[in-house]
Amino acid sequence: MPTWFDEGYPHIWLPYAQMKTTPPSLPVTSTRGTRIVLADSRELVDGMASWWTACHGYNHPHITAAITRQAELMPHVMFGGLAHEPALKLAKRLADILPGDLDHVFFSDSGSVAVEVALKMAMQYWLNKGVSTRRRFLSFKGAYHGDTTGAMAVSDPEEGMHALFKGILPEHHVIALPRDEASTAAFDSFLKMRAGEVAGIIIEPLVQGAGGMLFHTPEVLQHIRDAAHRYNLLLITDEIFTGFGRTGSMFACEAAGITPDIITLSKALTGGTLPLAATVARTHVFEAFLSGEDSSALMHGPTFMANALACAAANASLDIFELEPRLAQVAEISKQLTEELAPCRDLPGVKDVRVLGAIGVVEMKKIDDLNALKQRFVEKGVWLRPFGNIVYLTPAFTISEDDLETLTTAIYDVLRTHP
Ligand code: PMP
Repeated sequence: MPTWFDEGYPHIWLPYAQMKTTPPSLPVTSTRGTRIVLADSRELVDGMASWWTACHGYNHPHITAAITRQAELMPHVMFGGLAHEPALKLAKRLADILPGDLDHVFFSDSGSVAVEVALKMAMQYWLNKGVSTRRRFLSFKGAYHGDTTGAMAVSDPEEGMHALFKGILPEHHVIALPRDEASTAAFDSFLKMRAGEVAGIIIEPLVQGAGGMLFHTPEVLQHIRDAAHRYNLLLITDEIFTGFGRTGSMFACEAAGITPDIITLSKALTGGTLPLAATVARTHVFEAFLSGEDSSALMHGPTFMANALACAAANASLDIFELEPRLAQVAEISKQLTEELAPCRDLPGVKDVRVLGAIGVVEMKKIDDLNALKQRFVEKGVWLRPFGNIVYLTPAFTISEDDLETLTTAIYDVLRTHP
């Protein structure tokens, strides 16, 4: 297989790729609905929604129109000292649809930065209250919260993409999710002994995504919420993957009936069009930053914070959630995934098949050659990006029954014949 070097593209550095050996990426010229159009005119049925962002499919006319209108009016102004309607409106709308008093919205430009802001908020919350001992976070094995160094430090140091940096990053406490009797006892006894040094707990609710598409129950979240209350810890839910319907409810924490103290959002926030993220805090968190002292303010302000184009896209995406039956579509997708992925269970090499909302996962015992597997999917006319030992689907919520069947059939056929 030719590599990027052979093809003569020496200036591009790709994500998560060994540049010496990685095959060239597929050149894409356009997108449409749930289709990706390649330069050679082939069309792939998209099973990824571009890293879980394009929840309404590609090129939704309502979002395109909103971005075009906003581009003519004002693409961007700095948010320090200037404000604009798309951001103010979006903040109010997010506060309205988020549970409880998650009412105070800090915008940034990527999921990782939203996590950095959440961690900084939680640390400074305690400093502003005169507590200097709460400096560590509690996070969970299998977790993934982003690629910036603060986010890496609360991700699983063993399993994830950051193992190389163990010992260099700030040390937090990464323990097993309290999902059975033994791990719950370990979680409880950890907090009994060490809660005094912990600023907060950070968790991806219901699904640990990039860590392996691992699911847990709403009860696990409720247990963690109760423990955070008991020990007076801030609970941060990272809904960058799960937010905006992916697990079946608008936000995963709703399925457990819990309100975190801080929530992070990104990915599907703009319907897969422009980079935007939000860190949203409850009132008691926000109030810890109010005083006569400048030093207790949150000292953060990304250059492209609350970018007007991105906020216009996000407002348009929220309109669509109101106008079109997205959550009902997720329920239908869930049913179809459950039925159509079930036969994979009987294939040799398959360890587990699981579905939650619009997430379908086939976990293999191992995958020897991910590039070869990806190539087989492309030959079947579908776009999937398996990782680790996971083949998974996170399609747009607008996907047709036929396109979804094309995806599930391709998975079955390829895995049936994959050595
Ligand atoms: N948190 C979670 C749960 C994620 O899935 C991701 C991205 N996969 C991030 C944070 C980081 O987001 P970004 O890639 O936009 O920095």
